Amino acid sequence: MKPAGFTYHRPATVDDAVAVLAEVSPAGKVLAGGQSLVPLLSMRLASPEHLVDINRLADLAYVRVGDDGGSVTVGALARHADVERDAAAHAVLPLLRDTLRHVAHPTIRNRGTTVGSIAHADPSGEMTAVLALLGGTVTLRSAAAGERTVAAHDFFTGPMSTCADVGELVTSVTFPVPEGRTGAVWTEVARRHGDYAVCGTGVVVTLDDDLRVAGARAAYISVAPEPVVLDLSEAVVGAMYDDADWPAAGRLAAGRLDPDEDIHATAAYRSHLAEVLTTRALREAAGRASVTGGRP
Ligand SMILES: Cc1cc2nc3c(=O)[nH]c(=O)nc-3n(C[C@H](O)[C@H](O)[C@H](O)COP(=O)(O)OP(=O)(O)OC[C@H]3O[C@@H](n4cnc5c(N)ncnc54)[C@H](O)[C@@H]3O)c2cc1C
Repeated sequence: MKPAGFTYHRPATVDDAVAVLAEVSPAGKVLAGGQSLVPLLSMRLASPEHLVDINRLADLAYVRVGDDGGSVTVGALARHADVERDAAAHAVLPLLRDTLRHVAHPTIRNRGTTVGSIAHADPSGEMTAVLALLGGTVTLRSAAAGERTVAAHDFFTGPMSTCADVGELVTSVTFPVPEGRTGAVWTEVARRHGDYAVCGTGVVVTLDDDLRVAGARAAYISVAPEPVVLDLSEAVVGAMYDDADWPAAGRLAAGRLDPDEDIHATAAYRSHLAEVLTTRALREAAGRASVTGGRP
């Protein structure tokens, strides 16, 4: 099928983009990499009257590490591949590259944007969970209200649903770098490499100076309508990193999740994956934390 007709806008500045979005709202949609939106248009699952193409907004094509190395901010026109290949971002937050390698295929990552995948809020989108896991933020801009920044846990409101108002452009997202002696890992199971995950988890483990577990948390995709973040510390806190009961943390996670069944997997299989992947990821993250002495 072909998309329904629409009016195409290609603003050259962020000010122009939010002005056009205000003018055409609520009948307009932002077009970024098009890797999710164009298939939806072609299948006529979406038929906006106006498309506002942001691909000329060069000011938003950036990946920036904060001065203190404490965060990575990604502009709305940075492709997944730009974030994946950014050496400075990788040095402070390797979790970004590790996770992006599970997002689709290289050709899709060359075009699709990290901000677009977060704005799209697919419950199977890896970067939504990474942002939630790290307690990140989303910055939005509109002609009427100017700029505002919201926490990830307030941004995602359901499947393909966010708190972004009509006419708002997401200009950037910020991933905080976990403090202290931390290790972070992403792992998932997909039917084929590059497919959306049947279940995926990102974890962060923090150790104290004696290499005892000080904290453990995990975020999940494909098990709930939006990314879920669980604090699993109670199962492992105080234990030596190489002697902690990681399977207990996995069981705790599975007990707190309530996945649905669909054509790809039963709910029971997703619970099983959550338990196994959590156990595996936490153990590996603890090992990384024990040797990094700081950065995850
Ligand atoms: C075969 C295939 C496999 C894929 N596998 C995965 C996968 O495993 N994991 C994964 O996470 N993704 C996957 N994707 C999706 C890919 O990551 C997309 O690039 C991403 O979801 C959307 O980014 P985009 O820049 O292409 O956004 P677009 O497709 O242009 O837009 C998507 C939606 O977000 C909105 N939007 C985009 N940018 C903004 C903005 N700055 N402000 C406000 N709204 C905005 C659009 O209006 C639209 O509603 C896959 C895609 C394909 C085609």
